[in-house]
Order: sequence, then structure tokens, then C-alpha cells
Amino acid sequence: MIQIKKEEFKKNITDYLKVLYRKEAEEATQQQLFQAVSYAVKDIVVDQWMATHKEYEKQDAKTVYYLSMEFLMGRALGNMIINLSANKVIKESIAELGLDLNVIEDQEPDPALGNGGLGRLAACFLDSLSTLGYPAYGCGIRYKYGMFKQKIKNGFQLEVPDDWLRDGYPFEIKRSEYAVEVKFGGYVAIRKDEKGKDRFIQENYQSVRAVPYDLPIVGYNNNVVNTLRIWDAEAIDTFNLDSFDKGDYQKAVEQQNLARTICEVLYPNDNHYAGKELRLKQQYFFVSASIQRAVTKYMENHDDIRNLYEKVTFQLNDTHPTVTVAELMRILMDDYDLEWNEAWDITTKTCAYTNHTIMSEALEKWPLELFSRLLPRIYQIVEEINRRFIIEIQECYPGNYKKIEKMAVVYDGQVKMAHLAIVGSYSVNGVARLHTEILKHQELKDFYEHFPEKFNNKTNGITQRRFLLHGNPLLADWVTQKIGDEWITNLSAIDELSIYADDEKCQKEFMNIKYQNKLRLAEFIKEKNGIEVNPRSIFDVQVKRLHEYKRQLLNILHVMHLYNQLKTNPGMEFYPRTFIFGAKASAGYRRAKAIIKLITSVADVVNNDKSIDDKIKVVFIEDYNVSKAEMIFAASDVSEQISTASKEASGTGNMKFMLNGALTLGTLDGANVEIVEEVGEENAFIFGLTSDEVIHFEQNGGYNPKEHYNIDHDIRNILTQLINGYYSPENPELFREIYNSLLEQNGGERADQYFILKDFRSYEAAQKRVEEAYKDSTGWAKSAILNVAKSGKFSSDRTIEEYATEIWKLDKVKVEL
Ligand SMILES: *Cc1c(COP(=O)(O)O)cnc(C)c1O
Repeated sequence: MIQIKKEEFKKNITDYLKVLYRKEAEEATQQQLFQAVSYAVKDIVVDQWMATHKEYEKQDAKTVYYLSMEFLMGRALGNMIINLSANKVIKESIAELGLDLNVIEDQEPDPALGNGGLGRLAACFLDSLSTLGYPAYGCGIRYKYGMFKQKIKNGFQLEVPDDWLRDGYPFEIKRSEYAVEVKFGGYVAIRKDEKGKDRFIQENYQSVRAVPYDLPIVGYNNNVVNTLRIWDAEAIDTFNLDSFDKGDYQKAVEQQNLARTICEVLYPNDNHYAGKELRLKQQYFFVSASIQRAVTKYMENHDDIRNLYEKVTFQLNDTHPTVTVAELMRILMDDYDLEWNEAWDITTKTCAYTNHTIMSEALEKWPLELFSRLLPRIYQIVEEINRRFIIEIQECYPGNYKKIEKMAVVYDGQVKMAHLAIVGSYSVNGVARLHTEILKHQELKDFYEHFPEKFNNKTNGITQRRFLLHGNPLLADWVTQKIGDEWITNLSAIDELSIYADDEKCQKEFMNIKYQNKLRLAEFIKEKNGIEVNPRSIFDVQVKRLHEYKRQLLNILHVMHLYNQLKTNPGMEFYPRTFIFGAKASAGYRRAKAIIKLITSVADVVNNDKSIDDKIKVVFIEDYNVSKAEMIFAASDVSEQISTASKEASGTGNMKFMLNGALTLGTLDGANVEIVEEVGEENAFIFGLTSDEVIHFEQNGGYNPKEHYNIDHDIRNILTQLINGYYSPENPELFREIYNSLLEQNGGERADQYFILKDFRSYEAAQKRVEEAYKDSTGWAKSAILNVAKSGKFSSDRTIEEYATEIWKLDKVKVEL
């Protein structure tokens, strides 16, 4: 182990202040202090990083490349300090310099290179891979602008660019020596080589230089540091700009523009396919760069490309990186001279695919015209994969043309990326048990019947290091006091807390910690929203991307209903409640943005109505991101997980709440099913249609929401308030679209396609059970402690152990310093 000496570390910080800013500590801004501390921490990390890679090389260890368009990392500094074994020395040194670590941490921009759950999953996986000692690269894109910052103005969402690199990001290292060329467009010429063999040569293309930036991923207290490699695009040959040749000049300008645009911005769509040309360029850009580099690195230490799969595996995080299948085929055939069958055998032993959704609007299908124009050589390979696969299908199911229609990779003028991913991978996994079962028996039934051995489940997880140890230090210390610190690297050990669930003193301690965290959040809300919330009220929280299937609308309609009840009957028994929302809507998702405006409008009316005696408060927290998430989970009593059953593949927010002792109010969807299985139905509030019921309705044309509207007076009341200006006197038509979506069909879209009115009364009843349960504070404390105690299964360490042993076949590596 490296001994870090305090004096040396402190000197490093002051030296960096001088070198970077020519300043003494007393004169430096907080941002400059953040930079200097980060550089000093990076110095420690770099030694471990180099030692790790030396060890990987020495052991010739198999490596997973986790390919993902998104990595929603959140802040690095605080997490890195916690994970480093030198953590005590670092903290003491910072304190001795008179600096406030919390203030310094707050200077870091939240690297938000992702939308929501999928990107955060990738980030949790990297943390677990390092902590478990598995060799891994995360491969992604260095977006100049990550997920937009959300401002709320007059109750509406505004999107502000996230210029996270403005002050320089101290943890990245540019690795120009690993730059590669990525080609787009042009055409494929077929020429004979000296041996008379056909060569496929892309000509008249445009290209960019892909340049990697490496970020360290520090394992917990084990000296292991893996790499997140994000690619930036640079122009290839700027000197051509001076050329007098008109054609060359034009091309040079185009190439510069291509390089400038590719990594400019993250698409802000969550669970939605938009079909934009630039998005396909981003996909091929980072995939081609990552695969080229991985193959080159492999060949630096091995002589036979045919054994690639023994040392390398590519995990595709959703279909976004699926061109990997064709790109690897291209490299194996065009660069390494392999025949089709040999290349295909290697490719299908190297690629593995994770499915993240069954929703049709999220399925990627690229128009052939676009795909073939942008990626002419890749297109040829995809066509050939499709031709051979169709022959295979025909041989299996002679005369059954429906099978081809349903399974072909290229069909109806489109490349179906999910089909390409399944055909080209040796493993296909869903992300929660229910989700995988729906894939096998509904959405991907034909593929499951054809390739049953490929299908498997890997229930998602989250890292307890960020979402308990870092995000909730009070609870983390309490848990460690009770049962020791094994839970930090083995979350199943947290089950030992169960014996304290009935202990009155422990219940009091637990509820007090929750109260302290609620105070912290209440102060934040006071400062940011100007709203006073009662820290003794129930903190009922729904934070996640805004999407109709997640049903924030069900939640706010229920708040409207409660408010109506309180107005009609001010004396009714009611436990004070604070409804907290946080959600970004995709910039182009009109209905989602209208729902945000509805939430903020209801908040304005309810929060300012003296007649209800502060019994209900509604808070919309602006710009929900990872660092806010950490604070919010710690302060939550109720975890709203109310998606339409069958629509949420897993969810991971649900797990973070559970780990922090919030009780789930949810449908039997995604991983909620497994959460309830672990903690017991008596410690959660389950309501609503089951996924089987939802799927049954969908296969039979839906249901008729007008029946509920006609029969149910309260429902009719709240719906009418959407269109009579009750919450929007300045514009009574503001929520007409929401109203219509609940009652009218619209083109191919069913009325109330997410079953909000159908589940309304069942949700209301579950909310009543929440209130009753909270009034019994010992009972509540017991349930909350049990939620923490039974969260062991939902560590991403467990998930990664399953991926590593069942899919990737990796060995753990120990790093000694
Ligand atoms: C965990 C997380 C998500 C995913 O939340 P779900 O409730 O599973 O949709 C999204 N955004 C952030 C910032 C998160 O930390």
C-alpha cells in the first residue's frame, strides 16, 4: 500500500494552486480549490491506475468493454475520496488547510453524459467492476454538452445547455496516441488484390479523427482503477483548407463540420427513438473507435485474431451500440482477411446484448436509405447477415413467411437493430425477472423459441457506495455502528440489520436520522423554491424522467383529488403530506412538458391556499440530477414507483429509495416485483393492474375510460378542473391536451393508453394505507429498517458478479502496490 503523507498531499494542493492559477490558498476561488484538490487526488489515483493496467497485462486478463451511449456519472471527487484507501488522510489534510470538503465538492459540475436509468446503470456498473476487481473499459462519447440543465420559468421547463467542460474537467486525460480514423459515406469499390482476392474498399468517404479521453474509475479500497474511455471527434486534415482545388476545399470544410457536430450534444430522449441522422453518426463513431482500439490492443499481445473472444467481450447497453456486430465483422474480414464463417463465429462469441425496453416507440429501426448512405460497407455486411439469417429461418420453419416478417434483420425498408443485436450476440438479457419473462414469452417470443440458450435475466442494481455511503452519511454511519462495515462491499450483509427492526431504541434512532435528512432537504427546498415544508410531514417522492408511462400524471391527479376533499371537508382526518417531484422532460416531448406545467400549477394553488392549513405541499425540484438524487433519497419516506405494469423494464430509482429506508408505493412492474419479494408485501403498498391484465387489455383494443368519467364523480371533477381554468385561469386551454389524452383516442393512440383512470381508485386506496401506516410510527420505522435490511439483492455488485460469471467469464485481478 502506498503511504500518502498528509504534508505531501497538502503541499500538492498548494502547488497546483500556484501552477494552475498562480494563487495562494487564501486567494483562490472555490472553483480553483476544487480543481487543485482534484489534481492532487488524481495524483494518487494515477499510480493505482498504472499499477492496475500493469497487472492486467501481466495476467493477460480477459476484459469487458461496456459500450454505452450514456454514462450518467454524477460528481467524481467525493466518490473518489470515499473509495480511495487514503480517504482518511485526504479528508484530514483538506480540513487542516481550513477548506470545507462539502463546499469544494459542490463546485464540481455534474458530468451528465446520460438521460436517466440506462446511463446511471452504466455508471453503477463501472463502480462495481472496479470494486470487484474485474478488468473493464466503459466506452462512450465525450459530449461537449451533456444532459441539459432544467430551469423552471413561470412553471414551464426551459432547457439550458450544460457546458460541463467550461472550467476544464480535472480527472480526464487525453490519449492522442490512441486516436483512430472513422469513415462515413462514399461508396464501396471492389478491387482484386495481388492474390486475386476481392477487397472491399470504401472510397470518397468523409472521415474524422476519434480521440479518446480517459477517466479513472476507482474501486473501493482495493487499488483497482478501471477506465471510462469517452471519444471526442477532431478534424482529420485541416491543411487542406488552403488547397486551391475546389473539391478538396469543399471536402475539408465538410469534414471539419462533421467533426464539430458529432460529439456536440447528447440527445435528451429517454426511452424514445427519434431516427435522426446525427444520432446514427454518433453511434457508429464511438462504436468504430472503441472496437478498432480494442482489436488493436488485443493484437499487441496476441498473434491470432481468431482467439479474440477468449480475452475480449463487448457488452451492448441497449441497441444503441449494435453496429458493433457489423463493425467487428468488417474489421475481421477486411483488415484481418478472415472468411465470413470464421468472422461470424468470432463475432457471435464476442458480442452480448442487454435489452432495456419493450415499448415500441423506443425500438431503433433505421431507414435503409439513411443507413446505406452513411455506412455503405456496414450496410453490405448487415444485408449479408440478414440474407443468411433468413435462409436459416426458412430451413427451420419451411413455408412460414410470418417468421421472416417478424424476425428479419432487414425488413420493410428498415434495419431493425434489436434483431441485429440478438442474431449477432451470444447472450441476450433483460434487466428484471418480469421484464425478461415478457421478452421471452411476448415481445421476443420468436427469437426465444429459435435461440433459447441466448436468453437470460440480470436484474439491475445500484452502487451502495454512492447511494448510501456517500449520499446518506448519517444512515451509513448508523448501519456501520450496528453491524460493521462489510455492507460497503457486500450488501447482502446488511440483512443483519433485521434484528434491530423491532428494537424501539433503534427505531427512534432511525426515524431521527430520517428527520435530519428531511431537514436538510427542507432547507434546500426553502432556498431553491421559497417553499416552507413541514419536516414532520410525510415526504412522498417521485423523481425520475418525465414520461407518460411513469405516470406522474396519476400522482398529480390524486393530489388534485385530495385537495378537493380537503376543501370540501376541512375537518377531515388528514396526515400532512409533502409531494415532491423532480423530472426532466425531453425537449421535444410536448405532453410531458404540459405535465410539468400541471404539477407546478397545482403547486402554486395548493401551497398558497391558507384554508388547508399547510396540510398539503407540492414541490417541483428543478434540474433533477445525480447529486440532487443522492440528497433526495436520503430524505424520502414514500417511493413512488407507479408505472403502468409491464412498461418499466426494471427501474433503479426504486432500489435507491429502498436502500435509504423509503417504503415503495408501486405497481407490480419491473424490479418492484423483486423488491416486494425481498421485503414482504406488508412492508410496501402495492396497487393497480398487473402486467398480465395490462397486456390482455392491450391485445383487446384497450378499455373505455369514459365509463370511469361517467360513473365516478370525483374523477369527473378533477378532469373538469383540467379544462375550466381552475389551475390555469390565464389560459383555461393549457391542459386540454392532457384531458384529451385521458378520454379521447388520437390517431393510433388509445384513450388513456397508460390506464391512469383505470388504476386511479386503487392508487387512492393504496395512498390511504400509506397514511394509516405512517400514523403508526413504530410500525413505519420497523418497515423502513426492514427495507434497508432487505436491499442486499439490489447492489450492482450482485448484478456485476452475475454478468461476470455467467456472460463475460472474467477473472478477478488483485492489485498490490
Ligand atoms: C436512478 C436515477 C434515474 C432512474 O430512475 P428510475 O426511477 O429508475 O426511472 C434517473 N435519473 C437519475 C439522476 C438517477 O439517479
